[in-house]
Amino acid sequence: MLDNCLFCKIIKGEVPARKIYEDDQLLAFWDVAPQAPKHFLIIPKKHISGPSSITATDQEIIGALVGKGAQLAAENGIPDCRLVMNNGAAAGQTVFHLHLHVLGGRPLPWPLG
Ligand code: AMP
Repeated sequence: MLDNCLFCKIIKGEVPARKIYEDDQLLAFWDVAPQAPKHFLIIPKKHISGPSSITATDQEIIGALVGKGAQLAAENGIPDCRLVMNNGAAAGQTVFHLHLHVLGGRPLPWPLG
């Protein structure tokens, strides 16, 4: 846990969030600025700053994160959804605690352009 990390503060309960799911490794909560009718984030409780910082020891938790994200999407009415990780500021990453965006509820354009 990092003291100055927003998502670590959400994990610790120091910042409120609308939680969807929690276990000993993962936390999912609705995004405060949704980019689709349904948009939630799923994060590891372990502080990993982003996709580029994933190591071999994280592979099990990342697999669980993606699988649980898709499962929660189906349970929350968006079996067809987009799973996104922004990696680095130029790619749109603003919070440097690894998170998977799960978006759905409207047609999602592809390619991004
Ligand atoms: P990214 O830009 O990929 O780093 O995504 C960060 C996401 O966190 C954005 O979609 C924000 O809207 C979202 N966000 C920021 N603060 C909060 C918060 N307190 N609770 C829920 N989502 C948040």
